[in-house]
Amino acid sequence: MGKDAKLALVTGANRGIGFAIACGLAAGGVRVLAGVRSTEKAREAADAFRKAGAAVTPAVLDVADARRIPEALDGIARDHGPIDILVNNAAVLIDGPGGFAASLFDMTDDVFRRTWETNVLGPSAIIRALVPGMMARGFGRVVNMSSRAGQLNGMSAGFPAYRVSKAALNALTRIAADETAASGADVKINACSPGWVRTDMGGADAPRSPAEGAETAIWLATLISDGPNGGFFEDKKALAW
Ligand code: NAP
Repeated sequence: MGKDAKLALVTGANRGIGFAIACGLAAGGVRVLAGVRSTEKAREAADAFRKAGAAVTPAVLDVADARRIPEALDGIARDHGPIDILVNNAAVLIDGPGGFAASLFDMTDDVFRRTWETNVLGPSAIIRALVPGMMARGFGRVVNMSSRAGQLNGMSAGFPAYRVSKAALNALTRIAADETAASGADVKINACSPGWVRTDMGGADAPRSPAEGAETAIWLATLISDGPNGGFFEDKKALAW
């Protein structure tokens, strides 16, 4: 790998779509750090990436612990250098019971709070910690892994905490992208939907493989300089917010 290779951090990359994004970026010549929750998961992930033949290095980053994120990211930067590409992939879907059928009127504050911490506060803290450095260095790519569940256009009932968190992540994408555009630096912040993907979250009936679900995120993570900023994409095409 060339010494000029970009350095990427993919959160929640020990399984599912994040694992596939990390493998795909590494295959494209990017140096990749896979964010995982704990040192034990880092060991397991290192084995899994080795078995997959992917040159990916695990790094401990629990995104639900927003207050400790700046310190954790400082440690990662000391060990590996500045992050050029961030994929905010980690998320939880804990609405229940019944997923799609989960009613707002049964939702507890605890479910809302835990969903918000992982799906919104975590990505927000990571963006605030990393994007100023990207702007100062003049280059950066940020991908926020969102969902059609967060589209306000056609918003309907079902897993309310998750939907609200992804709508908020989309808003965060717009706000951050507007600021980076104003800076004039080549820093692009976009959101994407992976489609419905066969993972622990998506379930066994989903039509897409994790590698297919990773494609648009990989495209956004490696965008050329005249690529889009502040958009929402699925299958590399713009989605309505
Ligand atoms: P998944 O199989 O449930 O995997 C989630 C990943 O996030 C795991 O690696 C998990 O780590 C990690 N994670 C959760 N909480 C974390 C925390 N506090 N700190 C660090 N990592 C944490 O989900 P997925 O299907 O791959 O989903 C990936 C992304 O795509 C999510 O943002 C999801 O909302 C989005 N998405 C998925 C689908 C779908 O059909 N699958 C559809 C639309 C959007 P642990 O192993 O430690 O739990």
